[in-house]
Amino acid sequence: MELFNTLSKKKEKFNPIDGKTVSMYTCGPTVYNYVHIGNLRTFIFYDILKRAFELEGYTVQHVMNLTDVDDKTIKGSQETGTSLEDYTTVYTNYFMEDLKRLNIKDNIKFPKATENIDEMQSIINELLKKGYAYEADDGIYYDVSKFNDYGKLSGMTVNGKYSRIKNDDYDKENAADFALWKYWTENDGKVYWEGKLKKGRPGWHIECSAMSLKYLGKTIDVHCGAVDLIFPHHENEIAQSEAYTGQKFVNYWVHAEHLLVNGQKMSKSLGNFYTLNDLVQQGFNPLSFRLMVLDSHYRNRLDFTFDSLKKYEKLLKKIDLSIKSLEKTEKYEGNNNNARVQQIQDQVNKLLENFKAAVNNDLDTHSALVAFFSLLDLCDSTAEKGSIDNLEYKLLKDAVDKMNGFLGVYVEYEIPKDVEELAEKREEFRKQKNFVEADELRERINGKGYYIADLPRGFVITKNYVE
Ligand SMILES: [Zn+2]
Repeated sequence: MELFNTLSKKKEKFNPIDGKTVSMYTCGPTVYNYVHIGNLRTFIFYDILKRAFELEGYTVQHVMNLTDVDDKTIKGSQETGTSLEDYTTVYTNYFMEDLKRLNIKDNIKFPKATENIDEMQSIINELLKKGYAYEADDGIYYDVSKFNDYGKLSGMTVNGKYSRIKNDDYDKENAADFALWKYWTENDGKVYWEGKLKKGRPGWHIECSAMSLKYLGKTIDVHCGAVDLIFPHHENEIAQSEAYTGQKFVNYWVHAEHLLVNGQKMSKSLGNFYTLNDLVQQGFNPLSFRLMVLDSHYRNRLDFTFDSLKKYEKLLKKIDLSIKSLEKTEKYEGNNNNARVQQIQDQVNKLLENFKAAVNNDLDTHSALVAFFSLLDLCDSTAEKGSIDNLEYKLLKDAVDKMNGFLGVYVEYEIPKDVEELAEKREEFRKQKNFVEADELRERINGKGYYIADLPRGFVITKNYVE
């Protein structure tokens, strides 16, 4: 498997340290608000990368931090008159709900910054002792000029004219000393920790170093984030961690590009700031967004528009119909037409091969989807025959499951009993050529949120999709 490593700026063959387990740290959300679809693009990318490792047969230890203390979370909790914990729990729960709706696998450990303060304090003390950190009036800072490798990830240079960054809005153009620990001020209210350091709270960067070291070890395989985290966040994580341990922090740095909306950066002032709920409220299936994300390469910018989302909603419907039609075909046993089975086997193997090659080529999810849709076409043409050999069915179904096990764009769901009954009744009306009554029932089924498709061998029911 090959991955583009931001550190070496080239595609590299991927080899985990111990040959079979992948330690993977992914920067998580600051839980002060709803996450937007740009954030979600990044989280889908994490999920896909993990699934690619799993497809290769690796076991993945995946950690994603929750930033539950910073300027924004403190401000939000004060404005709403709630405790920091209550405030961040609300948005953590919404975030978890979004992950679920996007079919992001839940084999992730989610440590919170506030649960790892002790570890952060230990690292900071050690950095002070080693001379990489110094005390100022308002806190403890990391001295970027002390770390010789500073800039190895982002290419940023320390030119001597650097300054000190005090709040959580970081300068993206210049290297600067950054806060490891911020001493308490009245603005922080009840939010502070004591212990090994003077009353205060951690800076943002130190939390990821502390949690990565604690949960995954000194040197890990993969660390991911969106491209805007390369500098300063990831550069600073390297400086802190490597100064602290004296060892290489991460072997592969993998970054996802941004999502644009109508060609522009998403921002509240432009009114193009969308959450997953905004999509769902317009009737879209969250998995259409997942499909859209997968159709572009993670290192390319993705331009979100509602028109293109409609295109993916249509494709999602096609996936649903193809899989259900295949399942609906009549299967027979014992009358194996060997030539036909062999032919299907060859076709399926070829598609699986293309699929795997695409995934392993730096996550070429677009080409993986092309193979998946070719497989669904093959399912359709086979299902059109109405009845198929059991062996043929198994070959196709296994391949669909395997590809979808990586893509995660189809999730089985239950059709309510009353909808099934109405559909059966409608089928009877149709057989009696009573089309007026049949159409009425179709409308009723539609009103309940379901769609009925008539196939040569009967009907299948799916959810409603935006047309
Ligand atoms: Zn981070």
